[in-house]
Amino acid sequence: MRIHHLNCATLCPVCSRLVNGTGGYFSYGIMICHCLLIESDNNLILVDTGFGLNDIAHPRNLSPLFRNFARPKLSPDETAVEQIKKLGFKIDDVRHIILTHLDLDHAGGIPDFPNAEIHTSITEYNSAMNGSKSFRDNFRYVPKHWSNNPKWKTHTAEGDKWFGFDAVSALNNKETEILLIPLRGHSNGHCGIAVKTSDKWILHCGDSYFFHEEMSETPRSTIALNVFQRIVESDHKARMNNQKRLRELKKNHSNEIEMFCSHDHTEFVNFGGEI
Ligand SMILES: [Zn+2]
Repeated sequence: MRIHHLNCATLCPVCSRLVNGTGGYFSYGIMICHCLLIESDNNLILVDTGFGLNDIAHPRNLSPLFRNFARPKLSPDETAVEQIKKLGFKIDDVRHIILTHLDLDHAGGIPDFPNAEIHTSITEYNSAMNGSKSFRDNFRYVPKHWSNNPKWKTHTAEGDKWFGFDAVSALNNKETEILLIPLRGHSNGHCGIAVKTSDKWILHCGDSYFFHEEMSETPRSTIALNVFQRIVESDHKARMNNQKRLRELKKNHSNEIEMFCSHDHTEFVNFGGEI
């Protein structure tokens, strides 16, 4: 098994100082969309997708508020499909896409992989398909991302345990063990994705937190990321509680688990990613 860390969308929000905690008030910040490409058992697995080619061609499909706040770069070269081709793989070999949640910046690449089965929690699936159509739902979900009728595989995350967290196996075969770990709060059915490697686990925490220092023993976020997370969260108490549990997991099991979130470029660079 080999794991590639890919940035499938760069975001350049205004005011680096308020977003990243460094830089000027009038310079642009940087956020990324940290995805994984896993080579396994003669096929490829993608964990989150970032934006897809259709988003780049038709940016108006993304909500204006998102485009104005996040200022996505929207470069075709950053899409998962183009990066996978550049690595020399066939797109049809991407057989599974496992999603932390269905927000626009995580699920946009679904239409680029027609051969893939799309894994998500049943709660997230129901929220995206039958959401309240509130302001927040309209902001976060883009129905065009699944208008090609992809093959869905929904999971009910209960029954198993993983380091004290509820878990459900998304894929388990000779070489691959991947779990969905419910981390509700950012969205209704938001999950972390745990991937077993030869010597430890990798936990993709999705949007459970946005800034690496939120996982430090004296946690802090930046002003802009703190406000943004409050605006888009579906359950504040659950989100805060899951951040606390993730901090404890990091503190007590750092030799067994490496974790990162979707949008922090510092963590991405620490995993060898290039921006
Ligand atoms: Zn996100």
